[in-house]
Formats: sequence, structure tokens, C-alpha cells
Amino acid sequence: MRNFGVLSSLLSNRSFSTNKSNVLVYNCKTKTKEPLKCNKLLRWYVCGPTVYDSMHIGHASCYIKFDIIRRILENYFQFSVFQVMNITNVDDKIISKARALNTDPLHLARNYEVEFIEDIDSLNIKQPDIIARVTDFIPQVLNIIQNLFNKDLVYSAADGSLFFDTTKFKKYGKIVKVPEVIPHMFKRSNLDFALWKATKPGEPSWDSPWGAGRPGWHIECSAIASHYFGSSVDIHSGGIDLLFPHHENEEAQCCAYHNVDDWVKYWIHSGHLHVGDNIKMSKSLMNTISVKELLKSYTANQFRTLCLLSNYKNDLEFNESTMDVACGVLKKFDCFIANCYAHLNNYNSKHTPDITLIKKMNDIENDILINLADNFNTSKTLNLLIELISIFNKLLTVDFNFNCSNLEVIQALNLVFKTLDSFGINLTDSKFKSDAENISIINTTVNFRAKLRQLALQSKSDVRKQDILKLCDTLRDELAVANIIVQDSSKSSIWRHEKVTKIQVNEN
Ligand SMILES: [Zn+2]
Repeated sequence: MRNFGVLSSLLSNRSFSTNKSNVLVYNCKTKTKEPLKCNKLLRWYVCGPTVYDSMHIGHASCYIKFDIIRRILENYFQFSVFQVMNITNVDDKIISKARALNTDPLHLARNYEVEFIEDIDSLNIKQPDIIARVTDFIPQVLNIIQNLFNKDLVYSAADGSLFFDTTKFKKYGKIVKVPEVIPHMFKRSNLDFALWKATKPGEPSWDSPWGAGRPGWHIECSAIASHYFGSSVDIHSGGIDLLFPHHENEEAQCCAYHNVDDWVKYWIHSGHLHVGDNIKMSKSLMNTISVKELLKSYTANQFRTLCLLSNYKNDLEFNESTMDVACGVLKKFDCFIANCYAHLNNYNSKHTPDITLIKKMNDIENDILINLADNFNTSKTLNLLIELISIFNKLLTVDFNFNCSNLEVIQALNLVFKTLDSFGINLTDSKFKSDAENISIINTTVNFRAKLRQLALQSKSDVRKQDILKLCDTLRDELAVANIIVQDSSKSSIWRHEKVTKIQVNEN
């Protein structure tokens, strides 16, 4: 039974748009999921790196997770995201490493900043609209300190450094329950934090009304974000370890500076990356893997798939078996896309559209929207795509043809392709990396092999048959070395690009 009127109406209802007020986001400030109420131009501040070493994949996973959320907001919910990220290019760690290498700290920081940008590009992370170095914002930092000084929230320590007096700011502790206040050697409270660090010999420094020095860490984010967004930021993100004290301090000094109750509307944090037994990847534990090391063994798509398989808030386990799962899921998508193309290129379906199948696909598409609107649930979304692929795999015949209409194959292909593309999976990377000339050569080779194989299978001579099939297997294995995977059925063969190798986690 087919009703083409209903069919066309089902197809015309396909849309990625939705009411943006339907989006729920987990706000670390209220510890609940809240409706995302922002203007179409969404102002987002991301805490960026301290550039004193190569980026490791623990940090990279945070930036990938926020990149995925940014893409979801833009691609599914029609927000225009204006994103600003800081670069901490003056800091104790930078100064200490530069001293050890006998080089200029700002020069060292600039080199690692360049490497950071290369790394986020290689992971297909969208660059923020503004990348701001703290050393370019010294006047803005001093302006905020002066303002806080005038409000009697700042005091000077014995060495000339300036501290924010948390005991005088009544709302300190609004994001997290802060630890107990205990006496401190040179601060009024252990919770007080440096706004301006008095200079020491050999360190980069800038003049100020309170003597030469450099900005404290927390004030730089407040100064840069306030410069671009003023007294209200829609989303402020960072790794969960930044929740306290960094973000509590940022919120405190900005509420005081702007005279507002709330500076940031939504605080969002990503979980850590673990390398087994609940061990966080960190430079201090010397268990890091750099982005460049990762990409020797896995593709950016495979690592991004690992990030998509759990909620961004959760800790992420990185090891051989979790990467095997991620690689397997991505392979499922790659195979499905390759099969769809093989079907559409080689097969004229005589099937007419099945209204039940079209309706099922529309339901899956709607469920994807519902899940993404629920605090960006990408893992359930991938499960929905896998469900869709399972439905089609049941319709798959031995010759890579689907036992359904071309229209249905196109709709399923579009849904898988568009969803993965919206998450930043670079499909041109995995499937279409070869140029047209290479693809033509591979097509000719695989087709020739398929015809030869058919002749062998039809041959009555067992000896000749085994010889030719062995040659075909050898060619298949040699193509696999070049990352071209050939898959045979009883009547034909298809191919796809695929690169899977393993990485050793260095836990020295
Ligand atoms: Zn920050």
C-alpha cells in the first residue's frame, strides 16, 4: 500500500530547524539543565591554552567537545556563534621553561601558539573568531584592577603583588562551594587570588600605577572576555579542572567590575581524559600523548568519534579498546556510505518507496534533534544512526544492493552524511581523499580484479580457479597496504579508504 501524497508531505517535513528555546544546556552554576535563552548571536568565551609545551590529547579532547557543541548550535539550532579564546602567553611555567632553554619567554610562547593553531587545524576544530594573547590586553587588565581597587576589593601584599580580597565580595562561592577559609602567610585569606604579580628579575613585566609586574591568570580571561562581550557572556567554557578556582574567580571579579549579579549565563565544563584506572592525562603525571603522536596512529575522525560516543561532561577513557570501539563505529558509517554510493552508481532499483521505511527515517531524524537539544547528546545520536544502518543492512543483498528504492537510499545516505558532517567528522578525509585521477585508477583496478575473480569462480578447472583467486587475494592485500580496502561479494566488489593502526600509551 503506497500513498504518494503522504510520502511527499513526509519528505517536505524534513528539516534541521527547531525552536532554539527548546535547547537544554547543563549549567554548572545551577547544576541543572536549563533552556538556552540567548540572542541569535551567541557570545561564547573559551579558556585557551597556556603555551609552554605541545598540546596533549587531554586538552585536545576538551576543544573537540566544545567544537562539536558549537557546530550543533550553528547547524541544528541556527545560532551564530561568536567565539573568543585567550592564549596565556606569560605565566610561571612559560618563564621557567624559557629559563631552562635559555630563550625569551614571549618568543617561546609564540612558537607553541603557532603549534597549537596547527594542532587544532589538524583535528578539524573550527578556529575561534578571535584568538587573544594576554600580553595584548595589559591596559584592559589594569583598567579592571583600578576599578576593583576603587571598590576596596584589592590589597597589596608585601612584595607589591595585588590580590582580590574574597572576604569582601559577598557572593564569592556562587559557582562552587568554596573550601574553608584558613590563615595564609602573606594573603588575608587562602582563597584570595593575584590580580597583578610584582616583577622579579629576568621576567617579562609591564608598568602599572602599583609598580612593574604582569597579570595574574584569572584576570586575563576577565579582561579579554569583557573587552569583546562587556557585562554579559552567554556561554563560558573550559575543562572541569577550571571550575575552581579559575572560573569562580573570573565570575567574582567580573560581577564586581561590571556591577552585575551574574556575568556568565551558562558555565559549561568538559570532563577529563583518562588513560586507565581513573588516571587523568596530565603533564605532571608524565603520561601525555601529543596531538602529533596521536595522528601517527589514529585519524582525527577516529579520535573525534571517541569524543562523540560519550557526553561532553563525562570523563573520557582513552585506551586501545575504547579506540577500537570508536574506529569500529566510524568504519560502520564509512562502509554504509560506500555501500550507498556503490548502490546508486551501479544499480537501478525497481523498488518503489516504502511509506513505513520513510516514516521510520523521519522518526529517527526527529529523535536526533530531540537528543541534540537535550544537552547535546551525541552518543544517543550515533546510536540512532547505527539503528538506521542496521535497518538498511537487513535490506542489503549479497551484491551490495539494497532491497529498497533509490529514494530511500538517498534519504538514509543524506541523514548519515549530514549528521556526521555537522559534528565535524571530515568525510572528505576518509572517503574522498584521492584526487579524480587516483579514483579512476582504483576503480579500473578493482573492476578488472572483480571480472577476473568472476571468471575464476565460473571456471570448471579447480587448479586454475585457485591460482586466479590467490592472485586476486594478493592484489586485495596489496591495496590494503595503500589504505584501499576491497570488499567482495559473490558477484561484485567495492572499495573504500580506511586507515587503522594502533598507538602505545606512554605511561612513563
Ligand atoms: Zn580562563
